[in-house]
Amino acid sequence: MISVEKASKIIGSHTRSYGQENVPLSQALGRILASDVKADRPFPPYDRVCMDGIAIDHSSYQNGQRTYRIQDVQSAGSARMALESSNLAFEVMTGAILPKGTSTVIRYEDLKWISDDEVEIMIDAKDKANIHYCGEDLERSASLVKRGSVLRSPEIALCATVGASYVPVLKLPRVALISSGDELVDIDEHPEDHQIRKSNIHMLAAELGKLGLEYDSFHLHDVKKEITEQLTGILKEFDIVMMSGGVSKGKFDFIPGVLNDLGVRKHFHKVEQRPGKPFWFGTSDKCIVFAFPGNPVSTLVCYMKYFRPWLKRCLGTDQALRNVRLAEDFEFRPSLTYFAQVRVEETETGGVAHMLKGHGSGDMVNLSRVDGFLELPEGSNVYHSGEYFAFLPFD
Ligand code: AMP
Ligand code: MG
Repeated sequence: MISVEKASKIIGSHTRSYGQENVPLSQALGRILASDVKADRPFPPYDRVCMDGIAIDHSSYQNGQRTYRIQDVQSAGSARMALESSNLAFEVMTGAILPKGTSTVIRYEDLKWISDDEVEIMIDAKDKANIHYCGEDLERSASLVKRGSVLRSPEIALCATVGASYVPVLKLPRVALISSGDELVDIDEHPEDHQIRKSNIHMLAAELGKLGLEYDSFHLHDVKKEITEQLTGILKEFDIVMMSGGVSKGKFDFIPGVLNDLGVRKHFHKVEQRPGKPFWFGTSDKCIVFAFPGNPVSTLVCYMKYFRPWLKRCLGTDQALRNVRLAEDFEFRPSLTYFAQVRVEETETGGVAHMLKGHGSGDMVNLSRVDGFLELPEGSNVYHSGEYFAFLPFD
């Protein structure tokens, strides 16, 4: 058995990269950009009018002119026109290219109409006003979105504006999501008295979905031969095997032995923690195996503590966890790290964690009452109110 810290370190030393792929922009949200997206034009690409009004040559205004006849309208999307004489004005619309020969824009609000095609300027008009100049935001060929960025809606907009209908992103590993146990039936089946419906893989599938990972699901019965046959194929095909159940000390917990027989190298089995102690972790050349214990709370703790940071580390997007403080003293004698189920209250002085213990690692009803786990590290018997600990949020 090893400490939580050691287990995290070992897992962290097994990061892998899965290459890159081009995906349509519409499917790129949340993905990690694999190479810089460059500006194909300056930003903005032309001197852009940024107020509705008129554009004039400011030198005429400087010479004392206050009323202007409108030569034409330069609307957004119309090709650039040119001022025929510096005592004329263009009506211009937001988003239009600034007409040739004009140097400033005066808003409609600052004008008075004298006739249908003549206006008077009612303010002290400055030169170069209300113009968003070509290249002001970014010069051409500059990196617009940097490699390693998570693509959020603003980055999607930037990719769109440079015409990137496909974007290069980091490829994600393929996951085999496996439940195990003869007591489990599918969710659309009616369980007998001695059976329950599978819930862990749906919980894990939901979590994988948040990370954009695709998976195929499998079920292993508690029969060694069957487990061996199925895992033989799965280990050849997938990058990640994520299992729940069958790794404890039970008579039918065959999975660690089978994994060993199939040449998966065990890096550890059992971690000094509660819940989630029987967690088994191993690797083969192709595959990384996260075998979580089957109790729902244990499964989720292990996923959040070990898998989620591991994947983020593989993708270069890991971040430090937030610390929140305990609302009340808590005593825990065993020499294990305790992952407490907590509801976090947001206060002006930061997050405060209220413990909701529930009825142990099989109590998934309690899970839905909390916001995540508070990691109370091994080495203490009493965790004091007001002390700060790392918070593993569900969201
Ligand atoms: P195990 O780790 O296989 O000993 O399972 C521990 C407990 O978790 C047992 O009560 C199982 O019925 C339960 N369990 C295992 N896998 C699942 C699953 N996929 N969904 C819900 N409960 C499960
Ligand atoms: Mg089982």
